[in-house]
Amino acid sequence: MQCLVCAGEARDLTPPNFDGHVIGCPRCGNYEILGATWDIFQNASQPERAAALSKAASLQGVARWPTIKNINF
Ligand SMILES: [Zn+2]
Repeated sequence: MQCLVCAGEARDLTPPNFDGHVIGCPRCGNYEILGATWDIFQNASQPERAAALSKAASLQGVARWPTIKNINF
């Protein structure tokens, strides 16, 4: 699949039955988008997606990867 942040080649790491998407990108790293945020994320511009990812990364804490939520927009 394509990374939604940098448009590079990325892997879909979404576990089965997960409400959202987990994307593994060699440039952006692994990140997660909640199901409730997926439409917003897809409709956002590329700079908005990159900004949402960097906000999510700053709030990542001890999680395995940043989680992009509505609040990151
Ligand atoms: Zn990327």
